[in-house]
Amino acid sequence: MSPTPVYAANPSRFEHVSHRRVGASGLVLPAVSLGLWWNFGDDRPLQIQRDIIRRAFDLGMFHFDLANNYGPPAGSAEKNFGRIFDEDLRRHRNELIISTKAGWDMFPGPHGFGGSAKYLMGSLENSLRSLRMDYVDIFYSHRPDPDTPLEETCRALDRIVRSGKARYVGISSYSADQTRRAQAIMRELGTPLVIHQPSYSILNRWVEEPGDDDVSLLEACTEQDMGVIAFSPLAQGMLTDKYLVDDPASRLDSSRAGVSLREDMLKPETLEHVRALNDMARERGQSLAQMAIAWVLRDQGAASVTSALVGASSVAQLEDNLAATKNLDFTGEELDAIDRHAVDAGINIWWDATRSTAGRE
Ligand code: NAP
Repeated sequence: MSPTPVYAANPSRFEHVSHRRVGASGLVLPAVSLGLWWNFGDDRPLQIQRDIIRRAFDLGMFHFDLANNYGPPAGSAEKNFGRIFDEDLRRHRNELIISTKAGWDMFPGPHGFGGSAKYLMGSLENSLRSLRMDYVDIFYSHRPDPDTPLEETCRALDRIVRSGKARYVGISSYSADQTRRAQAIMRELGTPLVIHQPSYSILNRWVEEPGDDDVSLLEACTEQDMGVIAFSPLAQGMLTDKYLVDDPASRLDSSRAGVSLREDMLKPETLEHVRALNDMARERGQSLAQMAIAWVLRDQGAASVTSALVGASSVAQLEDNLAATKNLDFTGEELDAIDRHAVDAGINIWWDATRSTAGRE
């Protein structure tokens, strides 16, 4: 096998994608960021992973999002990214925004998931070793944990920033009410949360729905000076043309098929809506993936999303996705038409699981 050529980053990398400020903080993200949940585990050739990461960085996507459990197997995405970082990107450390998280199942026993100080702080130590870094830029509580006092989770996040092991902290999949409560504690401790990472797409609009006190998550984040990075804007690939072909093999070529992307999510009724959205995207001169990303990033005033956090299994998908930023404008008629097809597709698999840990102990 020929050795990988030495990587020299594209000198015009910051010109390709716009940047957006994260809430009221000093942190700035590219409008489209790359997540490594799938396609960066040990089941994928390292060279393909390297090609995607190099291309992303060359196109100005300087934010890479990880978590302790990404793989498969759990933990391998951090190790693979750490190797590519070490070999290709270390000299750009000051340009990169790297995030990781802890909250979902990782280690055996009662401190291997949730929001305890024991789990969060121990997991970050592991993550830093795998990532071959001294610090991450953002560390997240990956999910609310109803069995751990919110004060304990927040105190752990505060200590993590003070220890220098993360520059900023955030939360993921917390409700509007939980977000307000967590931010009140964090402000008291002197380390405000800067960012929330919720799922959000045309087929999953829970962040817009009024919660307790009639406030939506997007509104709560604005009120709390927090930015929002929306994960799974393509509904794990459903909002692309990938599942519109009649070839069942196109479903099976996804590493997530039957795991996080369940067959019952690809219902014929949902795919009919996806087909209509695909036609609309064509009329806009975009791919469906591009329109879906543009929709998440559309102007919603103060409550606009900061960054769309996409996944990609190839350089071609990555390039397609990034080109979404060329047209983020929608007419009122287009938005109304999208609303008619914005059916809930049952893909918010993160919601119920974070409301109870009954049976886990
Ligand atoms: P997504 O962008 O909704 O889906 C990505 C998948 O869609 C790709 O893996 C690919 O599927 C397909 N795809 C992407 N671009 C395409 C294109 N242009 N044309 C056709 N198909 C395309 O996002 P996601 O991967 O579900 O999540 C993105 C990131 O969000 C994750 O990596 C992670 O960083 C973060 N995330 C966070 C949480 C949390 O709890 N905080 C949960 C989930 C995700 P194939 O791989 O099948 O080709």
